[in-house]
Amino acid sequence: MVEIKTDTALEAMRAAGRVVAEALTAARQAAAVGVRLRELDEVARTVLAEAGARSPFLGYQPSFAPTPFPAVICASVNDALVHGIPNDYRLRDGDLVSIDCGAELDGWTGDAAISFTVGTPRPADLALIAATQQALDAGIAAATVGHRIGDISHAVSTVARAAHCGMPTDFGGHGIGRQMHEDPHVPNRGRPGSGFPLRHGLALAIEPMLMAGGRNDYRTDPDGWTLRTIDGSRAAHIEHTIAITEDGPRILTLL
Ligand code: MG
Ligand code: MG
Repeated sequence: MVEIKTDTALEAMRAAGRVVAEALTAARQAAAVGVRLRELDEVARTVLAEAGARSPFLGYQPSFAPTPFPAVICASVNDALVHGIPNDYRLRDGDLVSIDCGAELDGWTGDAAISFTVGTPRPADLALIAATQQALDAGIAAATVGHRIGDISHAVSTVARAAHCGMPTDFGGHGIGRQMHEDPHVPNRGRPGSGFPLRHGLALAIEPMLMAGGRNDYRTDPDGWTLRTIDGSRAAHIEHTIAITEDGPRILTLL
């Protein structure tokens, strides 16, 4: 079932989204060569705690997962696409890092992700991150009243295809509100004009996941969570929670 949010609820989601943005900003600022992924999680935990927010990631166990998720961020490095567990890995020069974070504040949720490089970047990684950002921007631009979910999906996939990047077929964006994952699903590919109609008050997480090697398949680590590219190529993941409004798409997960 799709819940259309009141304007009051959207304001509460904006507050939750701001906490997500603060946690991501702090984690990114802490990321440097030699820093452990676990330390980035600790930074994000502190931001959430100081804001009085709960983590929708911590303890989360969807049907595909063998264990509850042990952290408040996902930290996915290089060929890891999404769902990386922040462990004792120390960041190295030239790493490409994607961090995903959620926050629940006063019963409402935000969800966002960023990708960036540590130390001296590879030009190809910067191009991959730029393409992923462009795919997200195109998806957000298509998220207007009168369009449908398929218009967002098509906008995302058009950018990914032009960049010769692959995307997983079974992970994508989602409705969001009281829960992190609500209906409708927001696939990263689709037909224009198809799917659920976009209305004022619909809140969505849009999250392109691009794989530089161009393949759409991936493999899962023995931990049951971390998804990696099948060909060892690098991956990027950028996400915002947005609201569809009569005035156009409103990004809720900004500072
Ligand atoms: Mg996310
Ligand atoms: Mg999400």
